Amino acid sequence: MIVASILNIGDELLIGQVVDTNSVYIAQQLNNIGVGIVEKMAVGDKLDVIIRGLTICSDQANVIIITGGLGPTSDDITKPALCNFFNTTLTTHQPTLLHLKHLFENVYKKIMPPINNNQALVPDCAEVLFNEIGTAPGLAFYKNEKYYFALPGVPEEMKYLMNNHVIPKIIKLSSHQKIHHKTLLTFGIGESSLATTLTDFEKELPHNISLAYLPELLSVRLRLTAQGTKANIENELEEQFKKIQLPIKKYIIATKDTTLVEVIQELLEQKNITVSIAESCTGGNVSALLTKRAGISKVFKGSIVCYHNELKKNLLGVSSAILETYGPVSKETVSIMAQEIRQRTHTDYGLAISGIMGPTGSTAQTLVGTVWIAISNAVQTDAYCHHLQFTRDKNIYISSLLAINHLREFILQ
Ligand code: ATP
Repeated sequence: MIVASILNIGDELLIGQVVDTNSVYIAQQLNNIGVGIVEKMAVGDKLDVIIRGLTICSDQANVIIITGGLGPTSDDITKPALCNFFNTTLTTHQPTLLHLKHLFENVYKKIMPPINNNQALVPDCAEVLFNEIGTAPGLAFYKNEKYYFALPGVPEEMKYLMNNHVIPKIIKLSSHQKIHHKTLLTFGIGESSLATTLTDFEKELPHNISLAYLPELLSVRLRLTAQGTKANIENELEEQFKKIQLPIKKYIIATKDTTLVEVIQELLEQKNITVSIAESCTGGNVSALLTKRAGISKVFKGSIVCYHNELKKNLLGVSSAILETYGPVSKETVSIMAQEIRQRTHTDYGLAISGIMGPTGSTAQTLVGTVWIAISNAVQTDAYCHHLQFTRDKNIYISSLLAINHLREFILQ
């Protein structure tokens, strides 16, 4: 199994002068091809700490990716550190020297300073990873069944070498390995509650299958990853995927890698249902979430943002009596809004939402954070109340997600 660690070199990273974006990119690329990361370190430009970093990073990983310090100046001491670590010396790499001369003559249009000759010096035992877009070549080493890749710190050059040399090499190394993922999406249960419910499941997981919790607001994606060389690995994963669903069935909204909005779009399309929305407190956010999806016009006709009571009355016919008796944030008001938007726009379902998103705005009838959501079709209207205690932006976002999820549940009931 291939497991990686990342070593970033440079004093500027330690003092906060440069934000370490390289390791984020490297980790993402490795994760995309199913390579796990066990360690990530940043060290300064000092020979002994770089060697110590190399030793630590190779302790638990068999692929070690190093960035930074490959330049020509005296503070770039990654190459001397690598020579020390691999017990080798520097030697001139002729193709790199020719490339440097070509870059200076034809691209930079100036005489190459003698100091840049240093960039063609590479550790004797290294394989050179040709850097077409910059001056510092990448380096690959193999020692004690571990692979080391040293890349320049300049993000563009690091990315070029990752994409064109390192990732293809790692894919080749792992070609006999099989990696499969199965993902499900939950709604309405937090990560820690899920983890508690799944304690026994996790304990019984075979060692070649791992579980990742990927939480977002109100949703958690659970991803099972199976790695190994076994022929029946897919069946084993499928078996575990069925097993994980049993204790958390009521929270699962999809058994693939998706989002709540994609789920509702697919459901509406599948059932051939059209929807319109009357939004008060969310100011159009529910509609904005839906319209981020291409093709949503097949099922979503549109919405009215009736923030002020006047518009609730004039555009949706909510009477003054209802607004005065029950208030704009009430079961009665949202139920009428949902019914009216459905009828006035000729859709199958109407969704309405009204609440007090804070931080101020409590009334005698309704506390800040209260939100009412109603869904209506030709047969029935249901309303749901929630009490939220977050910031205004978060309350709006959570209310929008809750509204979409209520619509999903209403359709499936
Ligand atoms: P070159 O010789 O091509 O300049 P180098 O290997 O010597 O490359 P460094 O001198 O360490 O690279 O860094 C060059 C620049 O790259 C830094 O000034 C910094 O802006 C950026 N850089 C270095 N490390 C990182 C990192 N981990 N994340 C983001 N940017 C980085």
